[in-house]
Amino acid sequence: MPMLADRKILLTGLLSNRSIAYGIAKAAQREGATLAFTYAGENLKDRVVGLAQDFGGGLILPCDVTRDDEIAGVFETLGREWGGLDGLVHSIAFAPREALSGDFLEGMTREGFALAHDVSSYSLAALAKGARPLMQGRNGAIVALTYLGAVRVMQNYNLMGLAKASLEANIRYLAYCLGPEGTRVNGISAGPIKTLAAAGIAGFGKILKHVEASSALRRNVTIEEVGNVAAFLLSSLSSGITGEITYVDCGYSIGTANLAE
Ligand code: NAD
Repeated sequence: MPMLADRKILLTGLLSNRSIAYGIAKAAQREGATLAFTYAGENLKDRVVGLAQDFGGGLILPCDVTRDDEIAGVFETLGREWGGLDGLVHSIAFAPREALSGDFLEGMTREGFALAHDVSSYSLAALAKGARPLMQGRNGAIVALTYLGAVRVMQNYNLMGLAKASLEANIRYLAYCLGPEGTRVNGISAGPIKTLAAAGIAGFGKILKHVEASSALRRNVTIEEVGNVAAFLLSSLSSGITGEITYVDCGYSIGTANLAE
């Protein structure tokens, strides 16, 4: 039986066919899940509706995570249409471009800090809160995307590193909070992948080359590989794992170095 047969999963963060969410949707659909998608703002609606056709369409709902009414609307609709929810994927991040390059302090502002943490970390708790009644008692799973910059200084990642550190703590607290209700919460720390969000980080091409040269597998990870791990974490095959960050980065984070380069 496929890993996610009869599982109803809400996927956020679909923006292009390079999005990590696209890779997750592909794996989840292959494994038998029924999917719903969200888009952040009316101007992205047609784009996401178009992409969702690759997965048979289905429910496609507005959800700019800075808006409480839209978050509430998503779970109202899912409650009405599905009656329950088995999986939630948080694949969302944002920080102002000037906070993702150069000097850490020069790019730092109170407004930028608040926005980055709101969109990239608070949103996980807000979505989990909305999903909670629908997920209760179903052995459901929540998966969020993070990056090594949460735990190590990565050049230019700057403010987003702080937001990801908050997201990772959020994952642990949520796992403890929702565990008694049968809901697991995990993170995937993906290696660098060329997506629209990644394009906002200064020198991203150099990061890709560096990882290709020095990761244990001597290559970069793909959205398909991240998607497969997400499908596993969303499924009952991972029933004993919660509050954990799984690195899907071709072994870069173990600290290998290719001195021959
Ligand atoms: P992407 O640009 O395809 O996706 C980012 C998504 O965030 C988009 O769908 C965008 O609409 C959404 N978003 C931004 N602001 C939002 C808001 N206010 N409300 C709702 N959604 C909003 O890029 P991606 O690389 O697939 O990013 C997905 C996740 O993966 C992010 O959390 C990112 O930090 C994480 N990640 C990416 C990489 C990488 O190298 N690409 C590595 C590790 C982790």
